[in-house]
Amino acid sequence: MQTLVLNASYEPLAVVSVRRAIVLVLTEKAVTEHADSDRIIRSATQEFPAPLVVRLLRFVRVPYRRKLPWSRSGVLERDSRRCGYCGARAESIDHIVPTSRGGAQRSWLNTVAACVMCNQRKADRTPEEAGMSLLLDPFEPKVQRALVLAMGVRQAEHLPEWLVASFA
Ligand SMILES: [Zn+2]
Repeated sequence: MQTLVLNASYEPLAVVSVRRAIVLVLTEKAVTEHADSDRIIRSATQEFPAPLVVRLLRFVRVPYRRKLPWSRSGVLERDSRRCGYCGARAESIDHIVPTSRGGAQRSWLNTVAACVMCNQRKADRTPEEAGMSLLLDPFEPKVQRALVLAMGVRQAEHLPEWLVASFA
């Protein structure tokens, strides 16, 4: 089980183990913003509901880049493993403008999740040429969103609405 760590400014910073998050709270470096009351963590002397989200009390300057590097698995996650053309389960990715036609190869905006059938049908053509239309607008995921995915989708479902809305 993992915990999302927010900066003092409420921006997601990292994902850490629950134990580590509890240490941050006990040493007064962070406060619990959201806990799972169904899961109790016991220490030698205390028990607490497992923190799902903690927030640092002091602002941390973040030197790392805010852009997420492109990856195949990232595209599949972004599109919830659904084909961008028919909505079926997707195992592959499609280059919207084929690379053989000058389309960017490692671009969030030029790739979508696709099922094998749509991928074969579209082949080396643009969607217009193949008479296929996209069900979604490809976008560049924010690093924050990637942190939430790193927590695991099942657990991320327990995050409070206001927080999810801030980095959708
Ligand atoms: Zn498809």
